Amino acid sequence: MTSMNCVSCGASLEIKNRFSKVFVCEYCGTHLRVKDGGFDIAGKHPKLADFPSIFNVGSTGTILGKPFTALGRMRYKYSNGHYDEWFIDFDGEKAWFTEDEGTFTLYTDLYEAVDIQDINTIRPGQNIMVGDKKVMVKEKGNAVVEGGEGELFFYVEPGSDVVYIDAIAEGKKISVEYTETEVEMFAGRPLLKRDILVN
Ligand SMILES: [Zn+2]
Repeated sequence: MTSMNCVSCGASLEIKNRFSKVFVCEYCGTHLRVKDGGFDIAGKHPKLADFPSIFNVGSTGTILGKPFTALGRMRYKYSNGHYDEWFIDFDGEKAWFTEDEGTFTLYTDLYEAVDIQDINTIRPGQNIMVGDKKVMVKEKGNAVVEGGEGELFFYVEPGSDVVYIDAIAEGKKISVEYTETEVEMFAGRPLLKRDILVN
C-alpha cells in the first residue's frame, strides 16, 4: 500500500492495488489518473451518489471461498436500471465483479483492445469472433457511465456512452465493452448469492 496526495485538495489517499490506473478522491471527487508515478487530473465530477451495492469501497470477504477486496466501482445506467462493475483484488489477482439487478458475475479474464467487427452489424443470436474466440451474442445494449469511486483499472469519463454485449463462449460468460477508444472483453462465470461472503 502506498500513499499519495490528491493534486486537487491535498488529501492523503491510500492506494491499495498496484494495477489501479485511476483513483477517485473520496474527499473532493476529483478523478486522478496515475501518470509517471504521480497524479494527473482526469476530471472533476460530483461524487457518486450513495447508490447501495453489495460492496462498499474496501469491503473484504470471500468469493467462491477465495479472499477478495473491493477496490472501486464504475456505475452504469441502462434501459433496465443500473449496474455496478467492481474492480476487485481476488486472491492477489485482478478481477471484476458485476452486480446487475440482483445477478452477480465474476470476471477473471481480461482481453484488452480486442479485434471485433463493427458494432452496428452485431445482432443477438449471432456467432461472432472476438479476438480469436468465437462467441454467441445474447444481448446488445447501451449504457451511460454515471460515475466512479475508489480505485479503478478501467476508466471511462462519467457521462460517456458505452455499448455492451453479453455473450457466451466455451461455457463462460462474456462481456464486451465498447468505449470511444477501446474494446475490452471479459470472461467469467455467474455467481449465486451464497458464493459471496462479505465480512
Ligand atoms: Zn481531493
